[in-house]
Amino acid sequence: MSKPVASAGDTAPKTETLEPVGDGIWALTESDNNVGAIEGENFLVAFDARATPLMARRWLEQLRQHTDKPVKFLVLSHYHAVRVLGATAFEAEQIVASAETERLIAERGKGDWDVELGRLPWSFDGHEEIPGLTWPTLTFDRNLSIDLGGNRGTVELSWLGKGHTSGDIVAYVPSQKVLFTGCLVENGSVVYSGDAYHRDWMTGTLDKIAELDVEVLVGGGGRIARTKAEAQRAIDLTRDFITRLFRAVENVKHAGGDIRDAYRAAREQLLPDYGGMPVFEPAMVFDVQRVWEELDGKAPAIWSLARDHEVRSQLTKD
Ligand SMILES: [Zn+2]
Repeated sequence: MSKPVASAGDTAPKTETLEPVGDGIWALTESDNNVGAIEGENFLVAFDARATPLMARRWLEQLRQHTDKPVKFLVLSHYHAVRVLGATAFEAEQIVASAETERLIAERGKGDWDVELGRLPWSFDGHEEIPGLTWPTLTFDRNLSIDLGGNRGTVELSWLGKGHTSGDIVAYVPSQKVLFTGCLVENGSVVYSGDAYHRDWMTGTLDKIAELDVEVLVGGGGRIARTKAEAQRAIDLTRDFITRLFRAVENVKHAGGDIRDAYRAAREQLLPDYGGMPVFEPAMVFDVQRVWEELDGKAPAIWSLARDHEVRSQLTKD
């Protein structure tokens, strides 16, 4: 069995703070799993579901101090358990995701649930209550526009290319220039890329995100960026992490090194700037493994706790 991937600070109680990010738009921030809600004329659009129904109810209780409108749409940024398994608490009319995310849930949703719970048990408060996988009821390939009613404008959901997974989408409110990126952008929170497509993410996908006219950016984790410049910095920081990770592994591989050399090189490259972030060390193992696999032209293998253990032993043994 694999041990949880705890490191100092990861297991401390997390503060969950509701922060207004626009007129009728809120975010709940905690260290690595920010979520949000957007108010329509008669309903709410929620962005991501949290890891468990209990944690989702804690978020909804805070939200209910501002609005009692029902959640009509629950949008899932991607398939990872920590962002989807709290869905039932929202009692949403529609659960919305990309068609690719629906495919990934069918292919690997259960495996991912097991592995995330094993890796990050402290992020699944009340997991016994999770009734099963979360299935989308409304999917789209590239774009879906939700009319908020009245004069509230729209929420634009877009798949902008492969990235943190092959199915991630962003939610953009053009009238207020507010963007929820899920884990495609991290603002001072470590980048997990164990299921990612680094080449697409660090070029086309982040380019498309950077093209949006954004004044408030809520990333997957970390602080909310509240100016255009800060939003740009968050995108740049994410791109910096992925690019340096990818190049470090690629250089070693091209020079004929093995994956342990690649892990050492990538860790050395990123440690000075990112080493202080929670779960940096365990994330590096998964991230390097995935880059290696991507350089071999492969799709992301499905993680399991046994594979976690095997990869960690292989990469980190002296
Ligand atoms: Zn994720």
